[in-house]
Amino acid sequence: MNKKSIFELILEGEVNSNIVYENDYVFAINDINPVSKIHILIIPKKKIESINFIEEEDSQLLAQMFLTAKLLAKKYEINNSGYRLIVNTGENAGQTVFHIHMHLIGGEKLNNI
Ligand code: 5GP
Repeated sequence: MNKKSIFELILEGEVNSNIVYENDYVFAINDINPVSKIHILIIPKKKIESINFIEEEDSQLLAQMFLTAKLLAKKYEINNSGYRLIVNTGENAGQTVFHIHMHLIGGEKLNNI
């Protein structure tokens, strides 16, 4: 069996982190090393290493990640001021945790990319 990701350990309560949102498909936590005032990670409960490994059958789960981003943007009142969603994929993008996650960042003016 594959080694568990840090996010699986958090979901199972083996590593402490406040889960700020959860549904059947995804959960969300505050990033331990925030790059902006709001920095939340939206993570599928199913471990998929990266976007390189998604399948058609994951469509609903992927939609849930975006729907959760929308919901949390509203909850944290950054829906009108704006926010950025990032899914780092692979080494050149700086992916460090190989369990898909979407960064929701905002709460302040972000540098252009
Ligand atoms: P990546 O660089 O793979 O796109 O993002 C991984 C993110 O997970 C990083 O922003 C990092 O700060 C965050 N992270 C890594 N370990 C932990 C942890 O144990 N708890 C929380 N809350 N975030 C973590």
